[in-house]
This record gives sequence, C-alpha cells and structure tokens, in this order.
Amino acid sequence: MKRITIAIDGYSSCGKSTMAKDLAREIGYVYVDSGAMYRTVALYALDNGIIKDGKIDEARLQEEMKNIEISFQFNPERGRPDTYLNGKRVEDRIRTLEVSNHVSPVAALGFVREEMVRQQQRMGQEGGIIMDGRDIGTTVFPHAELKIFVTASAEIRAQRRYDELTAKGEACDMKEILRNVEERDYIDTHRDISPLRQADDALVLDNSHLTIEEQKQWLLDAYKRATAG
Ligand code: C5P
Repeated sequence: MKRITIAIDGYSSCGKSTMAKDLAREIGYVYVDSGAMYRTVALYALDNGIIKDGKIDEARLQEEMKNIEISFQFNPERGRPDTYLNGKRVEDRIRTLEVSNHVSPVAALGFVREEMVRQQQRMGQEGGIIMDGRDIGTTVFPHAELKIFVTASAEIRAQRRYDELTAKGEACDMKEILRNVEERDYIDTHRDISPLRQADDALVLDNSHLTIEEQKQWLLDAYKRATAG
C-alpha cells in the first residue's frame, strides 16, 4: 500500500500528538511532533540567556541557530519519540509551563520557521509520516494526501493540559493555563508567517466531546478512506 503523508494541525493542547502517535503505531508510520522542535529552540534560548525578561535577543538567536541540533529517538516505554537537543534528552524540560509561555513568540520568527520547515520537509521526503503542528497541511506538506484540522473549546483544552501537568506532579494553576492556551491561540493565528489556519482540503475534527477511543476510530477511518483505491 502507498505510504502517504498525513498532516495534523490544530490549536494548542487539543490532543493532536496523542492521536498522531497512536495512528503512527497502528499503521507503522514515523511520527514527528513539530511543536517539540519549536519548544526545543525556545528551551535553548531560555537556557542560554537569549530570552531575558520575556524579550528575545533575535540577532543572537539567529546567530546561534547553527548550534541547535534537534533529533528524535523512539522511546518504546512511552510508545513515541523523545526529543533531544544536541544529543541530550529534553523531552520533559520542553513541556514545562515556562517553555509553553515563551514558545509562540519564538515560533513566530521567520528565520526559526525557515529552518524548522526545512528540517521537517527533509524528514518527510519518503512519505509514511504523520506530522502534527500548526502549518503542516498549509506550508510544510501542502500536498499531503490526508490533512486533519483538530479543534476543541479553550476550556476543555486547558483542563486537559492541567490534568497532564498535575499527573506529572507539576504544580499549576488552571487560570494561568487557560491564559496560556488563549495567548498561544492568538499568537499562532495572528502571526505574519504561516499562521495557524485550516487548509482548504482539511477534514475538521472537533474532539471536545469525543473519547480517545472514538477519536482513534475516526482517524483510522479517515486514513482508510485516504488510502483506498
Ligand atoms: O504543539 P505544541 O503546543 O507543543 O507547540 C508549541 C508551540 O509551537 C505552538 O504554540 C506554536 O506556537 C508553535 N508551533 C508552530 N508551528 C508548528 C508547531 C508548533 O508554530 N508546526
């Protein structure tokens, strides 16, 4: 069977990565979390004093992009790839609220996007890939055979992020999380370069009231239709 390209885009914390990694496992595709790449750039900037008091030193970040090497390694325990920065595992550090609070302005920078998109396109050269993010169906793989646009209400998404962080033992405040979700939605949909938008040929999935199982089945059916005939 032809190994297609699957692009999953949508708002923050709407479960894109869970559904993408489950489908990848089921059909034997490679899964790439493009948000993890932007998060890793933000982490590097925070660690190296390139973001100070919320302000990004853009010239320095541009200069240092060549020192940021992002890679993924499949972690069988988690059933999904872990993210590495210059050979060091950073999977947990890129998921903190601190990184979430700084990632969207970093991801709005043209030179950051150019480099990430170039790397993402290279990963997808052979097909057989599922990538999730904000601009996958519109910019990274505009010719993807299957495009999904996922959405859910901001409150439901904030609740899911809250549950995820508290399960990991991270102290967090529901109001702050909701603010972060809404702020990222705003920046992601209003930036000049590749803003988050639904591709014209994307299938829309509102998963506000779907269980993970129902969502899994919906996606598998969409994949079967896309590869039939
Ligand atoms: O998917 P996740 O929420 O981890 O992504 C983190 C941030 O990275 C998003 O809020 C967005 O600002 C940025 N992003 C992006 N383009 C992508 C994936 C993520 O701008 N393809």
